[in-house]
Amino acid sequence: VGPRLILFDVDQTLIYTNGAGRKSFERALEKMFGISNGLHGVSLSGRTDKSILYGALEEKKLHHLLTPDVENQFWDHYLRSLPEHLKTSKNSKILDGIVELLTILSETPNVFTGLLTGNIKRGAKTKLEYFDLWKYFPVGAFGDEHPDRNEVAKIALERSRRHFKEHFSVENVFVVGDSFNDIECAKAIGARSIIAATGSHSYEELHSKKPYSLFLTFAKTAPVLQALQGKPFFEPNGRA
Ligand SMILES: [Mg+2]
Repeated sequence: VGPRLILFDVDQTLIYTNGAGRKSFERALEKMFGISNGLHGVSLSGRTDKSILYGALEEKKLHHLLTPDVENQFWDHYLRSLPEHLKTSKNSKILDGIVELLTILSETPNVFTGLLTGNIKRGAKTKLEYFDLWKYFPVGAFGDEHPDRNEVAKIALERSRRHFKEHFSVENVFVVGDSFNDIECAKAIGARSIIAATGSHSYEELHSKKPYSLFLTFAKTAPVLQALQGKPFFEPNGRA
């Protein structure tokens, strides 16, 4: 096999912040646009921050207010309260098996890791630095680059090819995530999705979207590494 590229989602794949991002987002919506509880009942799973912002404003028929300047101010507001929300968020954590997985991958020759996330870049950096995981990802594509996650995936692949100076044939490109959108955006670039049911979609729901491999969690490293070597693996879901 040639060089492998492994692109990681952030929320509910690497870390769980127990709503810190959502709270910061809602505070920024309130400060900038006077919208309260602006994400109530809205699923954020696997979506780009840009699409979440556009959706919240459209819902209130306020999207005409969004100029590039206003959008930048919005992200500044979001980032201002994010560290505080991360600190005060109860039960926020790195998900089981992630440190072990990233450590092994970082020591494996011909394996390269990057980010493919709906988070804006500075948001991803704030969250991952808080958990000391940012150091594993020298490259990435982010939710402030395009509202469509599939387009973010294309950017991630192209940027990784340039950054690592490797071609990465698509059968050696893996997207590690927890949501429908992670499965879909992997398919959009011809990559293979390695999915855990650690987010808001159930194992069965995720299974129906036909990921390349599916786990309950990434707690056990050996089968995840096997899937990342191109041997698909479906962890039994423990229910008849
Ligand atoms: Mg996620």
